Amino acid sequence: MMPVCPLVMGPHGAAFPAFGRRALAQRRQDHAHVRRRGRERVLAPALPETDGNPVCSDCGCSICYACRRPAGQLRWRCKACRGDFSITSGTLFAWHKLPLRSYLLAVAAFCNEVKGKSMLAFSRELDVQYKTAFVLAHKLREAMASSVKGLRIGGEERVAEIDGAYFGGHVRPENRTADRIDRRRAENRSGKRRVVVVMRERDGRTLAQVFGGEEAAGPAIRQRIAKGTVVHADESPAWNPLHARFAMQRVNHQDGYSVDGACTNGAESYFSRLRRGELGHHHHIAGPYLVRYAQEAAWREDLRRVSNGEQTHGIVGLAMRSSPSVDFCGYWQRAQAA
Ligand SMILES: [Zn+2]
Repeated sequence: MMPVCPLVMGPHGAAFPAFGRRALAQRRQDHAHVRRRGRERVLAPALPETDGNPVCSDCGCSICYACRRPAGQLRWRCKACRGDFSITSGTLFAWHKLPLRSYLLAVAAFCNEVKGKSMLAFSRELDVQYKTAFVLAHKLREAMASSVKGLRIGGEERVAEIDGAYFGGHVRPENRTADRIDRRRAENRSGKRRVVVVMRERDGRTLAQVFGGEEAAGPAIRQRIAKGTVVHADESPAWNPLHARFAMQRVNHQDGYSVDGACTNGAESYFSRLRRGELGHHHHIAGPYLVRYAQEAAWREDLRRVSNGEQTHGIVGLAMRSSPSVDFCGYWQRAQAA
């Protein structure tokens, strides 16, 4: 039995086997075994307390009748509200159109990346349109972010690091050198540049939020980092007001990366992953979506040493516990109607 990472929210705490190419080839020899185990694992996250028996996603009634469609799709009918529901009703994958197996493949392919996933590559792997891949990936990012929803990090004798990094708002330089402007000046900027502020507990979780400037992050930091935490930060004056609440350790990066025990290397490590995800996979991140990519990078950073099997199991569990996405359920249909 593999050791289970406590960061993965598995319903039964069971280790999920890795799915490297060799491991898959080995297991393919026993199809029935894979099918049976796979089905149990898909159903289990949605129905852990009822031992696999269906519960109405609308009213919670546990008296439901099997009501399979003529084409074979699994459906149940609730005795109380008379509504029909499927495995994914009321979850992140509600109203799904692809076969369930495609969603499992999508989760596996998405988890297998380390810094992010190109949506062109994703759409080719799943054999779906770019737009489908885009929305599906954003739903998976929502599932990732739900693992730290409302979470407070730190506490007595705990250490957290905070830092900010700027993303977006690129102004393209003119072709001719003579026409180029000084893009460092405030009046020549696009105004779209946003800062990702990260709060990272040492040996704990990472929280990422987006603000207009570092100085706007104060209230969020006070809310998400518990009192009594020792907070490490760099020399930016935006962190000065935090001295009133936390025991602070500051490092001036003009002097070194780690000075007198103070460093923000964990936070920088997170930004390295996010930056490389932007440069290598996303290429362009539109402002309103920046927080989603930041949360995805935080999840990937926290679970980087966890096997891809456990990561997949964790995301499937989170997706089955999440409600339909407010922003991405019917995303393109709404865009078409507008
Ligand atoms: Zn019902």
